[in-house]
Amino acid sequence: MARLAGKIALVTGAGSMKGGMGNGKATAIRLAQEGAAIAALDLDQTAAEETCDLIRQEGGRAFALTADVTQEDQVKTAVDRCMSEFGQIDILQNNVGILKTGGAMDSTVEDWDALVHVNMKAVFLPTKHVLPHFVERGVGVVTNISSIAGLRYLGTPYIGYNATKGSIISFTRNLAAEMAPHGVRANAILPGFIDTPMARNITEQNTDDPDTIDWDALDKQRAARIPLGRVGTPWDVANAAVFLASDDASYITGTEITVDGGVSCRV
Ligand code: NAP
Repeated sequence: MARLAGKIALVTGAGSMKGGMGNGKATAIRLAQEGAAIAALDLDQTAAEETCDLIRQEGGRAFALTADVTQEDQVKTAVDRCMSEFGQIDILQNNVGILKTGGAMDSTVEDWDALVHVNMKAVFLPTKHVLPHFVERGVGVVTNISSIAGLRYLGTPYIGYNATKGSIISFTRNLAAEMAPHGVRANAILPGFIDTPMARNITEQNTDDPDTIDWDALDKQRAARIPLGRVGTPWDVANAAVFLASDDASYITGTEITVDGGVSCRV
């Protein structure tokens, strides 16, 4: 029996850069494989449509929504469209996040503002506009994508990104406590090193000549630092999201699932 049969999931950042496989896209596909109908929201209409095509090819139900999750009017319209298409929402997966490098001294104010603006509104606005529908039915699940970088310094200065990802943990715990009496659960997933287009993009940006990057060698170097011996895939994140969205997690709220192959256990 599919674990999410009859459920409706709104997944933000459900497309992926450069037609690859990102955390949101993999999560939309896995939730659909478990029986959920998907509203796949992304900035990029083509990317969202591509995710929906993949879901439909496997026999699932999906439709694409184009919206910027930092713009309240667009988020509200997207939620309204999801409600008119499916009549309900059961699962909100807040996946959108941006990454910019920089430490305490060299981060620019523009980068800092962009990180706070996107990464914080990406959890706040969709949650704010989906919650009334959850409260009305007394049921709902919010899963926010944070990062193990929200807990500690990982060796590269990403102070703005890490601060926003830490804030998402706090946001999620507050949300869980506030909304539990309404039957709404909220948890965060903390991915470690996951091979996604966004992660590759930042590696390219930090390299003088991206064409010279030996991805296999880099993968081996990274894997050597991970106790389970491999870099994570978006499917690892997606599988945690399925669990949190399902009734298997019905007594789990206000907590974090780390999906990092054990990285954060090692000193
Ligand atoms: P991804 O595949 O590139 O997915 C992000 C998607 O979100 C892209 O399609 C992007 O569209 C879209 N997006 C960006 N800003 C948006 C906005 N304002 N409104 C709507 N959609 C927007 O990225 P990913 O690496 O899977 O990352 C997804 C999440 O995982 C992020 O929150 C990230 O911080 C988190 N995470 C990733 C890793 C990792 O190692 N990859 C580790 C820890 C946490 P465009 O391409 O058009 O911008």
